[in-house]
Formats: sequence, structure tokens, C-alpha cells
Amino acid sequence: MRAPGEAGEVIPDNERRDPDLSRRAFLRGAAAGGLTLAGGCKYGTQLFLIHDTPKAPAQQPAWAGSRVQRYRPLGRTGFQMSDISFGCSGLDDAAVARRGAERGVTYFDTSPDYSRAGSELALGTGLRGRRRDALFIVSKFCTPDGHLATDAPVATVIASVEGSLRRLGIDYLDLCHIHACNSLDRLMAPNIHEAFDRLKQAGKVRFIGVSSHTPDLETVMAHAVDSGRFDVIMVAYNFRNWPDLTNIFRRAHERGVGVVAMKTLKGARHTQLADFTPSERESFAQAAFKWVLSNPHVSGLVVTMSRREQIDEYLYASGQAVTASDVSLLEKYDRLVARDYCRPGCGACLDACPYGVPVDDVLRYDMYARNYGQRREAARLYAELDVDRRADHCATCSAPCERTCPFELPIRDKLARAHHRLACA
Ligand code: SF4
Ligand code: SF4
Repeated sequence: MRAPGEAGEVIPDNERRDPDLSRRAFLRGAAAGGLTLAGGCKYGTQLFLIHDTPKAPAQQPAWAGSRVQRYRPLGRTGFQMSDISFGCSGLDDAAVARRGAERGVTYFDTSPDYSRAGSELALGTGLRGRRRDALFIVSKFCTPDGHLATDAPVATVIASVEGSLRRLGIDYLDLCHIHACNSLDRLMAPNIHEAFDRLKQAGKVRFIGVSSHTPDLETVMAHAVDSGRFDVIMVAYNFRNWPDLTNIFRRAHERGVGVVAMKTLKGARHTQLADFTPSERESFAQAAFKWVLSNPHVSGLVVTMSRREQIDEYLYASGQAVTASDVSLLEKYDRLVARDYCRPGCGACLDACPYGVPVDDVLRYDMYARNYGQRREAARLYAELDVDRRADHCATCSAPCERTCPFELPIRDKLARAHHRLACA
């Protein structure tokens, strides 16, 4: 028997239309001995290349040469941020960053752990020679090998920022975020704040921020705004998720805290949905951006741009108002991915797993591989997980986690596939 999707096997139409590779097709392959879930890779490459390679929407002539059309104030920093800005996760081509700046992008968000510092190197090269005070360059308190421990010594935190400056080839960062902040302890860690104060005094970092898409997202962000300590918050924010965030954004606006949205494409499955027409695929990203930017308290958004054609597509939405047809499209997308999309900031299932599998993190890494085309980076992040907490447990588990998911995600199947994909990349 062939593996599902292998040349010659007929995949039923309803399985092709499933947002994820169908459970039945998947189990058929496993039952036939073709798929080794606990780390084997017998069919891995072929299986997932056929079903999961994201395709870019067809480029539209109208998109060619798109430029930023609108700039918005970034809180008390005084900077005018391009409404659609540059996320550098997966960036490895300096020319892409350079083109973004040429098209009017002013805000660039990177991190030492994006592509093991490759993103900072590419960004630094791409922006070299441009007027420094016209740019806002952002990185994270982090290292190429991963996140800093919450109690990392002050000297370690400072050294991590100096490493970023070296790789970027600049003298100062405009903003440095406490990265992947999942608790109030991490948010207010005195060592990190002392390091920031020293770096600021030395002219090496101007502003401090916090980024998060973890289960405590709303709590962390509310505290960050109310603390008076943070200049910018960077938050996972997309169509009709987290109603409390709108109140937090309003408070942030009142207190002069800039708000940067990320994860705005809600999983970015639009290019893989059989129930989307070509024109819906082409319009989805722009509709998602316009909806996010319709909140007047959002300063701007960052979206990963690692290919030149994404610049044309994404900047086409700059300065545009959201329309009723945009909202209908976003509603349709929501219906199609309702039982596929793991909501950043949820975490309702985490305590139910006897093995401590970080379900949300694994599904996020898998999203990077499946939907963002960042297969190698996703595999690297997965490899950094503690071996005992990886998702190879899922194949033989009774899945108590699934009873706790408010969105009824088939967590076990999704994680078993994610493990196979990420461990075999
Ligand atoms: S299927 Fe089992 S091992 Fe996997 S996340 Fe759920 S509870 Fe944990
Ligand atoms: S799998 Fe479900 S319960 Fe778990 S974090 Fe994702 S959306 Fe929440």
C-alpha cells in the first residue's frame, strides 16, 4: 500500500478539501506500516510536500511596486511607523529587506533566535547605508541559541544585546522586547530591567517593549501597560480574537504605549484552502491587515516578509479601509479553519497533558513549517524542546487534552503529524 498522497493513490475529494491532511488518510498510511510516528521519516518528505507546501497567491498586476501609504504614531516613542511593517522571522535575503525600506517601510522587527542570528545579519546588510534616524530597528533580549532565562544575569542580558548590535552593524537598537513573555515574573524581572536601564544610559537601546503570544497574553499585556515601564507592546492580534485586547489597546493609547500587532494572518492557511476561490486567496492577507489596522489604537502591524513578492502583495493594503466584503471573507476563513487553528494565547489544554507537551508551541512551530514555508526554522525550534516533552507521545495516547480544547481541535492527530513533519524536516 502507498502512503496517502503518494503518486498513484486516489485521495477522496472530501479528504483533499479538509483543512488538514485527513485523519483517515493519515491513519491508513500508519496502519499499513508506511508511517512511523515515533520519529521515523519513511514517507515524511513526499507526504508533506504534496499536501502542505504553501503556495503564494497569484501576483496581481495592481500590486506591482506597492508602497507604504500611511504612517502612524508609535506611542510616546515619537516615531511614525509604517502601518504595514517588516517582520524578519525567516529572513535570509538582504535584498528583500532593502526593497522593503525602498518601498517606505520604516519599522523592522528581528530577533537573535530568528534563523540562528541569520535574520539579524541579513537585515543589517539590507539596511546598510540608509539614514539611520529614518528607521526603527527592533530586536529582542535573546540569543541565537534561544530565549534567555528569566533570571539570566544582567551581564548576560547586556551581552545578548551587544551581540545583536554587532550582527546588525548598528550602534543602537530603537527598541528591545522582552521576548515570548509568558508570566508577570518574566515581564518585571529586575535583572532584565536593570540591563535595559544600563543599555539605555549607554545609548545602546532607546525603548523597552514586550512581545507575547502565550497563554497569559492578556494578563501580561494589561500589566505591561499599567506598569508605566513599557514603551511598546507587541501582541498576537487577528480577526475577532481576544475581545479584552481592545480595552488594553485603548489604555495603551491613553498612556502613550505603542501597540504593534503580529500573527495577523490567523494561521495563514488561505493559500491551502480548497474552498477558497483564487480571488479570495489573493485578497485574504490584505483583508486581514485592513481589519487589524481598523483599530485606531494599533500603531501598525508586522508580518513576515522573506520573499520579494510578499512586499508587493502586503503593502498593497497599506492605508486602505476595511470593507464589508473583507469582513465576509475573514468570516468565511474563520468557518473553514475553526477546528484547525490553535489560538495564540489560549493554552486551555496544557495542564491536561501527562507528558507536559507544549501543545501551543508545537502547533505554532508546525504553522511556521506548513503555512509560512519555514520548514527548517520550525524543525530547529522543535529540536530545542526537551526530548521528554516532544509530541511523539501523542500517537499512543488517549488524548485527555482534546476534552479541554474549547475549539474542539483534533489535538492528537495534529500533534502526531506535527511531530512527524518537524522531526523529519
Ligand atoms: S495527545 Fe496525549 S501526549 Fe499528546 S498532547 Fe494530548 S495528552 Fe499530551
Ligand atoms: S489546542 Fe485548543 S486548547 Fe490547546 S492551546 Fe490550542 S486552541 Fe487552546
